[in-house]
Amino acid sequence: MIYLDNAATSWPKPDCVTEAIVRYLRDIGGSPGRSGHQLANAAERLRLDAREALAELFGLANPLRVVFTSGATAALNLVLRGLLGPGSHVVTSGIEHNAVMRPLRALETQGVEVGIAACAPDGTLAPAAVAEQLRPQTRLIVVNHASNVCGTLLPIRAIGALARERGIAFVVDAAQTAGCQPIDLEADNIDVLVFSGHKGLLGPTGVGGLAFSPRFDVGRLPAAVFGGTGSRSEDEHQPDFLPDKYEAGTPNIVGIAGLAASVRYVLARGVSAIRAHEQRLTRRLLDGLGTIGQVRLFGPPTASARTAVVSFTLAGWSSSQLAQQLDERFGILCRPGLHCAPRAHRTLGTFPDGTVRFAPGPFTTEAQIDAAVAAVARLAHGQ
Ligand code: PMP
Repeated sequence: MIYLDNAATSWPKPDCVTEAIVRYLRDIGGSPGRSGHQLANAAERLRLDAREALAELFGLANPLRVVFTSGATAALNLVLRGLLGPGSHVVTSGIEHNAVMRPLRALETQGVEVGIAACAPDGTLAPAAVAEQLRPQTRLIVVNHASNVCGTLLPIRAIGALARERGIAFVVDAAQTAGCQPIDLEADNIDVLVFSGHKGLLGPTGVGGLAFSPRFDVGRLPAAVFGGTGSRSEDEHQPDFLPDKYEAGTPNIVGIAGLAASVRYVLARGVSAIRAHEQRLTRRLLDGLGTIGQVRLFGPPTASARTAVVSFTLAGWSSSQLAQQLDERFGILCRPGLHCAPRAHRTLGTFPDGTVRFAPGPFTTEAQIDAAVAAVARLAHGQ
């Protein structure tokens, strides 16, 4: 089997992730921040270790500015719905996932205005296109760091600089890049970074979160879920301090245990080493698929301008037929269709049939890439 669906969720996971989850369930079991007994304290130490690892990864000095949610989707809902209200204006890009577009479309019905900075047909975005959309009422800019459809990296540092000059909050959806692209909250001018635990961070599903830069005033962002935190139990009001303000309810500590181990794995292997490995595979995929005449590739031609995501179509084939044949005949697992990002496919000109997406990961080999290219070539040649 050749797993090329790492942009949906990464697999396999490093063994240390499975082991950390088993260790938590077998030997720890307590609820972090509650009870004060030794197993609850061990769980709290695990959770702090996860925050510390993520803070190190994102260049954040204070690990308590890392907040856990059930994933990037929940984190984006918290930030977008919390910061935007009637009369406010938000700018996003033409290559976003529905995790951004759907909350924004829902907010539109409540009087929020949405400006979309157009991307080029390969998904690239000029900072000037963002600047053009800005208005005096613009409260927030939100873009993904890289497209989940074609892998195109957006110039977040330059967009962040624009936002900073004008005092506009800058939110980055790093679902596709955390763990496989360098990210530094300060250098990249990011106010709020949203991450997913189960993709490039190599953790389990059901966990993700936010990292708040020291500049961002969390007093501006109300909690979305209210309830028990294990702290200030005498008070019926939600705590106003981090991370408790946004972490009501018993957390997904099983997921957080796995994420602590997976982020430690990423830090030890090194983001630049992971990126270099994935770039080699991406280059090989682009070159290999590019030799098949009936293949049309989307996104920028250079591997360095994208993450390890390659979208393509094959003349005469629907994307779903192609993915099905790749799975059934060759054991190649990938994702066809619109990838929860119809806006991105409109930008690429691939709406509504979509594309087939190959997304290698840190454990994919060059031999697997060659086998995937050979399989597409056979199907292209009617074999
Ligand atoms: N944003 C992008 C760009 C994504 O690719 C995804 C996952 N497909 C998400 C957000 C949502 O992430 P999660 O699964 O953690 O909610």
